[in-house]
Amino acid sequence: MRVDVEHPQNANLPKRVSYSQMSLYQQCGLKFFFSYIHNWQEPPTSALVGGNITHLVAEELYKLAPNERTLDNAMEILRLEGPKFLARPENREFDTDFIMKQNVREAVENLFTIESPPEIVVLPEHLEMKLRVEINGVEFTGTVDRFTQDGIKRVSDYKTGKSPGRFLDGKLIQTYLYALAFKTQFEIDVDEVELIFLNSKESFRRPAEVGFLEDAGTQLAKMHEDSKQDLLDVAWDAKISKLCDYCAFQKVCPAKTVDAPKPGSSSSDAILAGAGLLRK
Ligand code: SF4
Repeated sequence: MRVDVEHPQNANLPKRVSYSQMSLYQQCGLKFFFSYIHNWQEPPTSALVGGNITHLVAEELYKLAPNERTLDNAMEILRLEGPKFLARPENREFDTDFIMKQNVREAVENLFTIESPPEIVVLPEHLEMKLRVEINGVEFTGTVDRFTQDGIKRVSDYKTGKSPGRFLDGKLIQTYLYALAFKTQFEIDVDEVELIFLNSKESFRRPAEVGFLEDAGTQLAKMHEDSKQDLLDVAWDAKISKLCDYCAFQKVCPAKTVDAPKPGSSSSDAILAGAGLLRK
């Protein structure tokens, strides 16, 4: 459903495009509009907070020397870093979320079932690597969880939450995009991409075939062109899906709420502010 909106003065697209922006736009253009043109911030969720803590623990664990990467040390990192992360004002409400905390503990334990951390060949500077490079005319930005070289050059990304099931191919696009960025920014040909699903104890490795990388780059360019057109049209596509159930903008979305005000209008903004949403 094409939805006419109101843009703020001097509205523009973000200077750099990340995978999560691309993925959000593909999921629903109107949601992208609320998030990146009007800069509304969706409130943190238990899953997001748990995922962030898990990533933090994995990063700190792999900074240790191989023989120090034990489950005890991982749990010690969790004991130190978890409370610090939950003490941030935006995360405080999750401090008593014991299900989330249990999920994080399990995810950290599962890392030692999925792989053998002491045997992973990784340099500290190859953790949380920042990517900033132009791909197909688009300024791309991203952060790679881990780049390893053990005879095979591999880009890996940790995931928390459910098993990907039939959505695996879609989720791999992120890693193909990172492999393409590696090639363009560092002139490194990545051999393999990997997704590690910590809660469902699964990992998937796929060859970084040129065709997949190019397809990911094409999707990025298309997203950029289409969003430029939406900006000119002052209209964005609302795409109804199961994910609407988790969308913070339902009450101001004409595709979901019959009497919703025009997205971007002062009435729409007032409803979002009243629901406790903040601007980035
Ligand atoms: S409720 Fe659904 S259609 Fe509406 S903005 Fe959110 S994701 Fe898009």
